[in-house]
Amino acid sequence: MLVAGAGPTGLALACGLVMQGVSVRVVDTAAGPATTSRANFLHARGSEVLARLGALGSLPEESVRAMRVTTYLGDRPIMRLRFGDPGLRTAAPPMVISQARVEAALRDRLSEFGGAPEWGAPLVDAQADGAGVTAVLGDGRSVHARWLVGCDGTGSTVRRLAGIGFPGVKVSERFLLADLHLDWDLDRGGTSGWIHPAGLLGAMPMPDPDGRGDLWRLLAYDPGGTGEKPSEEEILDRFAAIIPERTGDTSVRIRDAVWLSLFTVHRRLAEAYRRGRILIAGDAAHAHAPFGGQGMLTGLGDAENLAWKLGLVVRGVAGEPLLDTYEAERRPLATEVLRGTTAVTRMNITRNAAGRFLRDQVAVRLFGLPWIQRRATYTASQLWVSYRKGPLGGAGRKPRPGDRIGDLDCVRTDGTRTRLHTALRGRWALLDPAADADGLAAAARARLGEHVVPLRPGTEGPGDALLVRPDGHLAWRGRDAAALGRWLDGVLRDGRAPR
Ligand SMILES: Cc1cc2nc3c(=O)[nH]c(=O)nc-3n(C[C@H](O)[C@H](O)[C@H](O)COP(=O)(O)OP(=O)(O)OC[C@H]3O[C@@H](n4cnc5c(N)ncnc54)[C@H](O)[C@@H]3O)c2cc1C
Repeated sequence: MLVAGAGPTGLALACGLVMQGVSVRVVDTAAGPATTSRANFLHARGSEVLARLGALGSLPEESVRAMRVTTYLGDRPIMRLRFGDPGLRTAAPPMVISQARVEAALRDRLSEFGGAPEWGAPLVDAQADGAGVTAVLGDGRSVHARWLVGCDGTGSTVRRLAGIGFPGVKVSERFLLADLHLDWDLDRGGTSGWIHPAGLLGAMPMPDPDGRGDLWRLLAYDPGGTGEKPSEEEILDRFAAIIPERTGDTSVRIRDAVWLSLFTVHRRLAEAYRRGRILIAGDAAHAHAPFGGQGMLTGLGDAENLAWKLGLVVRGVAGEPLLDTYEAERRPLATEVLRGTTAVTRMNITRNAAGRFLRDQVAVRLFGLPWIQRRATYTASQLWVSYRKGPLGGAGRKPRPGDRIGDLDCVRTDGTRTRLHTALRGRWALLDPAADADGLAAAARARLGEHVVPLRPGTEGPGDALLVRPDGHLAWRGRDAAALGRWLDGVLRDGRAPR
């Protein structure tokens, strides 16, 4: 298996594949790991993916728990949003953590399996044939693999070589970005945003590896600045002017800069996620605004969804149609996420009177309502994601096949206690109140092999057995081993749940 790109998506995919017993080679154009970070926020579902991959490590302790977003008009707070509702039964918390640290944690996990990305190794060409893909690296070496996955970001070479279109539109003019050590008496318990006629300014506290506790991520809309790309010095000068102009606070002092950059928001979605033996995931498949912290989160979810399916196909347990369920489950989700991030961007940058009225008067009031706040947290967290309407989904009582199963107390066959998501770790869980090892567990193991963990729910009670997929979604529920066998046979052969 060849993975192009050692960003969060490629690394998560590599870890997931190795956990499925698949050998993986990861190549990346860059000379080495990134030291600066685009993403700074990981919502709960992303943390859960890391936990299920065994890659969470010490990230929760290192992270900043800055779950509030306060919006100001001048110096007047007009809206407060609070993320991280404790009632969501997650296996891991949402985190303010740098993308560089997330990638490092994934690399550490990969190295536990003896793997490591190959740096300075761009994929420059790829030819697919019936038996696999022959890729060419920058130094002329050719690599043959049965499958190639492009996790190579928005400018994906793999996507282009596979002939997959990436239609979309530009959503905004440029934003300036700066990670700065600041002398600023601003609340580090959350993100602050200022609405200003010249454009939005956002300030988010960042975990500070050197312990100074004064590192901030600033984002400023700069719609006038459409000319030549400014130098780092010019970006810094712009921030020195923008901070007092948009916050009204003239006491802020810039100590030093860690990273200065700029970006423009585009909304793009790949026409397909697979062409034969070539697949794409993460930003290679969907590009959107950073607002709402959805990009890395969605890429990690793609990787987890694809890993177990590719694992089954590579091991010869499932046929290729199972791989089509990857696009069928993940592309509609990306469409939804793109809609949300585009709406948030448009709201942030609106300059016309009607848009400003909607944002500053209507949205502000709505977001003050507790139930809207809960809804916003839930939406941003992606804990709502369900594949119920996809080819592996189903109807009936909740939870339905395709729904995410929250973390639960469980009992192993040896009587020791565990949590559902801890038990998954690349495997399927059969959560059977009757603990009938000869019936349901045997039917699952006959098809999926040793990748099934039999468990009993920690709290007693009658009910269906649940077969939970490695990505934490419900595969099947019922009591009849023959029906479970038919379901698995259909899914593994046809990539469709028998109706
Ligand atoms: C300012 C900003 C803030 C953001 N904040 C958040 C946030 O808070 N939360 C969030 O979830 N998301 C956020 N995002 C989005 C997030 O950064 C991306 O969605 C994420 O990096 C996507 O990961 P990826 O692995 O798919 O792609 P990338 O991170 O782009 O990784 C692609 C990798 O592929 C390599 N590569 C490229 N071409 C080739 C080739 N031909 N061969 C081999 N390797 C190649 C690159 O070197 C790179 O290492 C933000 C984005 C920006 C710009």
